[in-house]
Amino acid sequence: MPVARLRGVGPERAAQLERLELRTVGDLLLHRPRRHEDRSQFRPIAQLQEGEASLTRGRIVAQGVKRFARGRTSVFELIIDDGSARLHCRWWNLPFMERYFAVGDDVLVFGKPLSLRPRTMDHPETEVVVNDAESQLHLNRIVPVYSLTEGVPQRWLRGLLARVVKDFAPHVIEPQPAPSGSPSRAEALRMIHFPEQADEIETARRRLALDEFIALQLAIQKRRRAWESRATSLPCAGTNHLMRPFLERLTFKLTDAQTKVLREIRADLGARHPMRRLLQGDVGAGKTVVAACAALMAIESGRTVALMDPTEILAEQHFKTFCHWLEPLGIEVHLLTGSRKTGGSKKTADDDSKHSRSPALFIGTHALLEENFAPENLGLVIIDEQHKFGVAQRERLLRKGRYPHLLVMTATPIPRTLGLTLYGDLDVSVIDQLPAGRGRLRTHVRTADTLPKVIEFIREQLAQGRQTYVVYPRVNDEKLAEGVKAVTAETEKLRVALAPFRVGALHGRMKSAEKESVMAAFHANELHVLVATTVIEVGVDVANATVMLIENAEQFGLAQLHQLRGRIGRGTHDSHCILLSNADTPESRERLKVLAETNDGFKVAEADLMLRGPGELLGRDQSGLPNLIFGDLARDLALVEQARALAAKSLTAPTPI
Ligand code: ADP
Ligand code: MG
Repeated sequence: MPVARLRGVGPERAAQLERLELRTVGDLLLHRPRRHEDRSQFRPIAQLQEGEASLTRGRIVAQGVKRFARGRTSVFELIIDDGSARLHCRWWNLPFMERYFAVGDDVLVFGKPLSLRPRTMDHPETEVVVNDAESQLHLNRIVPVYSLTEGVPQRWLRGLLARVVKDFAPHVIEPQPAPSGSPSRAEALRMIHFPEQADEIETARRRLALDEFIALQLAIQKRRRAWESRATSLPCAGTNHLMRPFLERLTFKLTDAQTKVLREIRADLGARHPMRRLLQGDVGAGKTVVAACAALMAIESGRTVALMDPTEILAEQHFKTFCHWLEPLGIEVHLLTGSRKTGGSKKTADDDSKHSRSPALFIGTHALLEENFAPENLGLVIIDEQHKFGVAQRERLLRKGRYPHLLVMTATPIPRTLGLTLYGDLDVSVIDQLPAGRGRLRTHVRTADTLPKVIEFIREQLAQGRQTYVVYPRVNDEKLAEGVKAVTAETEKLRVALAPFRVGALHGRMKSAEKESVMAAFHANELHVLVATTVIEVGVDVANATVMLIENAEQFGLAQLHQLRGRIGRGTHDSHCILLSNADTPESRERLKVLAETNDGFKVAEADLMLRGPGELLGRDQSGLPNLIFGDLARDLALVEQARALAAKSLTAPTPI
């Protein structure tokens, strides 16, 4: 039912609610309070603590607007008194606030005191107490506080919600029978808006979150079932005639973890349904060689393989690795990126995908999604760093074949809640072991003033023949926050500081030919130091690089720093990652310490998820994250598991006739 049909909601109010995306009664019921306020207890003004958010109440004794800077800046100030002390409330550049208050009003104030001499709050939340028939809704109880838009008073919206909850919540249908011990959905909606006790808020949130997770799990499980009923698989388990010589030529032996994963993949490739598998493995765990083996199985079975990478650098690097591995076996490897439409190992002019007869391997970026890439006989799709792509892109590549097998790889260890939600339709394999013979990787957290010592240390390492990465958060210093360093400027300084060692720069704004030649020079140890942005985050592989200095480490997420440091520790020498925190606060040090304490990517990812939430953990370009109102992917693992089981049960239950 549209909001406009509610008593007390005219066209103007309806338009305001529209701005909050509240169009129907259902939207209103799901408008989650931003927080709750216990208005049965107030803190006396005299007892307010600096920096501590509290609720207080008093009478306005004075108010007024002051202007400065020839009228360009203004401050509106209220002084309230509750008998214990006075409190100054200030709003900057909002002179119209004056209209909402009058001396003598009884007001509720929620905010953090900025200082205690005099007691001052800037931009607190306020509500004038009105004694009318509705006041028992707004006082002496736990009240909801909602997100608002201009022109909508808190009191009005709360009143509207009280009516809507009373009239409509009882008629809300139960999507699932309430699990025992949990309230009905109707009851939960009442509790989330107008709890009688504080603990009802969390009880209600959990119930409503469960419903959200069930809906997600149903969608995932239905998608998988529908596809299983349609899809017939192409047998791709291989014949070993290429695999055997490949493994013999390899300069290392596969780890037990790699072998175990390959067995899982081989079983999938020979099964009735196409493979849909997520391969997780910490940076450096050796996913590439597993991908190569999977590709070989498909190629042995006469199928073409496509491998999609999120960046050109990565695609080029994979191209080199795979040419080196597969060309001796007589397999064609092609590269398709935005800047290089086709480029095959055979280097023929129109060595186009369409004309290629024998099974080949195509490596590329998003360019693989374009229409002119139409491989014949596509048997296997491999996607590296899956979280950089959305489900839609994944499906688009898959549609270039008839139900090809799918292997997605990620080095971002995905905490289980996220895994079940984002990749619930995939089977999971984990490479939980690093190849033997690697040097130790240690991580050190330091303050910016130790930079000269760190430079000395880098010099020593360079003198021993090792190489170094230096990472900055930005390319150049336009629009830089104070103290944030950038690649371009710092590269010049490092050239001087580290002479005669050679220093090169790498960042996303360079042309790909330039990037390629810098990477090649670093690979060949002609450049000793590579100064870069996070473009080196994924995939770059130079085993001789053993030192990574990351400046402004506080600007990065933990999972991102973990990815970055995965660029070192790949050879036999010990490696050192030095995190310089240029804006040193106790919190940022505490956060960075997680990295010094563990090299386990799962632990880092979980800490990051807790600290910053799923969107930040997976990166801004993550498109597959669901919009949850009540559910919290960082904390609700038990609910997600419960939802998964309930969804599976409801899908297998016989449909009532
Ligand atoms: P990631 O899982 O991060 O993609 P890579 O596949 O790039 O890791 O592997 C990192 C390095 O380890 C590469 O140089 C690769 O050749 C090497 N490597 C992979 N597997 C093994 C192994 N079993 N033994 C020794 N080195 C290995
Ligand atoms: Mg990789």
